[in-house]
Amino acid sequence: MVQKGPTEWEIRNIIMPLMLSGAKMLDRHCPKCSSPLFEKDGRVFCPVCEHREKRKKAEMKVEVRGVEESLREKLTQLANSLPDDIEELEKHLRVIEKIIDLLERYKRLEGLE
Ligand SMILES: [Zn+2]
Repeated sequence: MVQKGPTEWEIRNIIMPLMLSGAKMLDRHCPKCSSPLFEKDGRVFCPVCEHREKRKKAEMKVEVRGVEESLREKLTQLANSLPDDIEELEKHLRVIEKIIDLLERYKRLEGLE
């Protein structure tokens, strides 16, 4: 997917403040979004891509939270409605086990950051 060049918002809120903060604007451009590259503390980077990357991660986190929440809800529902029939109960517990397993996995996913 080809990313578009910096939007007006990005120029105003990311590139300009960076210039004011003393970062050096290089005469090279980002191959991905064609924003000018910057250098600060010896590090060359594209502020627009970094910002977009961060935003994407934040969005993903929100999504994961949403899934987690519905799983937790389901878990509570299941725990509050355990059947008396042993076979049914076993099925029930297996589902609960799976949900807990999934929640653990999501937790690990979040821990990666
Ligand atoms: Zn870029």
